[in-house]
Amino acid sequence: MDVKVGIPRALFYYQYYPLWKTFFEELDAQVVLSEHTTAKILDEGIKSCVSEACLPVKIFYGHVMNIKDKVDYLFIPRFTSISKKEYICPKFGGLPDMIRNSIKGLPPLIDTEINLRKSKKNAIKAAMETGGFFTKDKRKIERAYKKALESYREFNEKIKQGALPSDILDRKLNVIKKSNEPELNILVIGHVYNLYDSFINMDLIDKLRKNGVKIMTIDMVEEDIARKNAGLLPKKMFWNFGSRAFGSVMNFLDKEDIDGIIYLMSFGCGVDSFVCDLIERRVRKTKDVPFIILTLDEHSGQAGMDTRLEAFIDMVRWRYRNENNVSAYG
Ligand code: SF4
Repeated sequence: MDVKVGIPRALFYYQYYPLWKTFFEELDAQVVLSEHTTAKILDEGIKSCVSEACLPVKIFYGHVMNIKDKVDYLFIPRFTSISKKEYICPKFGGLPDMIRNSIKGLPPLIDTEINLRKSKKNAIKAAMETGGFFTKDKRKIERAYKKALESYREFNEKIKQGALPSDILDRKLNVIKKSNEPELNILVIGHVYNLYDSFINMDLIDKLRKNGVKIMTIDMVEEDIARKNAGLLPKKMFWNFGSRAFGSVMNFLDKEDIDGIIYLMSFGCGVDSFVCDLIERRVRKTKDVPFIILTLDEHSGQAGMDTRLEAFIDMVRWRYRNENNVSAYG
């Protein structure tokens, strides 16, 4: 019988799942995903996690609870850095230890460190270590890793062409545009796990699409271009997400016809509080375009979110009809 590897449907699942799935399957393991996020998963996460953690981490805990008894291994990589000379949020580095120390009855964790700060070559080292849980055949692991990279490239290619990760991962490619109004271009900025988990963001993506919005995201911009634009900052950004978000926003402001910007922010997130402020200031200085911040935590209410979103879209549409002869900031 195949060994079962559990992957929580949370955090970097939305960025790396095609890579991880191919890799494990090429090593003859069966990949088991936790269910889509629900109120029950969130509740389980809140109960098992420290209260200071951000909402995405609490939800990750809930997904671990949802899947831990169904698998032989749980894959919770220890992410330190995913790009040269940049770091990601320290919560990712501590995640396997946090989970181990607060949830009982876990299967063995595969907690390989992913640290590409010095060199991308460390990725193959991490792949060899992870593959070692399933086979001693090093060539098989190398082949599995190569195939996994191909899947990852295809996934990213579709995103660059305008698909959203949730469209691909949930196979929701036939999205119907319900509004008869002209299409608005709205850039939505945020971490992948906030943007593409429809429970966390209270169906933001579908709501925007039903209102005739074409969604643009920072993931649609080529990494090289984002990085080059991020170089405009007087000091190099410490976080991968920061340089990616800032550089991509600059590209959209420069090249695309953007009608509005939404920043989806996690309450209590240090990275978001800094990056959001930096981007908002730069946008206000550069272009007259409406900008709204929507903050998410476990107490966020559907009604409040809907009201703010509808008011924002109405305002953007009003500006659109009046050829932008209306101030973006009231
Ligand atoms: S970057 Fe922010 S939202 Fe993401 S895990 Fe860290 S604190 Fe949470």
